[in-house]
Amino acid sequence: MKLNTIAKLCCPFDKHNLQLRILAQDFDQNVIEGILSCKTCQRNYPIIYGVPIMAPDEYRQTALEQPVIDRWELDHQPDPLRSLPE
Ligand SMILES: [Zn+2]
Repeated sequence: MKLNTIAKLCCPFDKHNLQLRILAQDFDQNVIEGILSCKTCQRNYPIIYGVPIMAPDEYRQTALEQPVIDRWELDHQPDPLRSLPE
């Protein structure tokens, strides 16, 4: 999905703006994988295979979303090696 299309999305629950973290992009700047986050209700909406998953909670497929969320959380773990002086 194109970045400027994603920028128009809002949280389906409270209509607030979403923040985007990009995990993978293709050469045309389409977002292939990422996480949209709503600061208001603390929901995360993964983008998987270029498609934002913004279904109501009861229709969400956590088995599909979990690998992306896991990778996103891994990316944001502090890396102990990097905190050592060179
Ligand atoms: Zn929200």
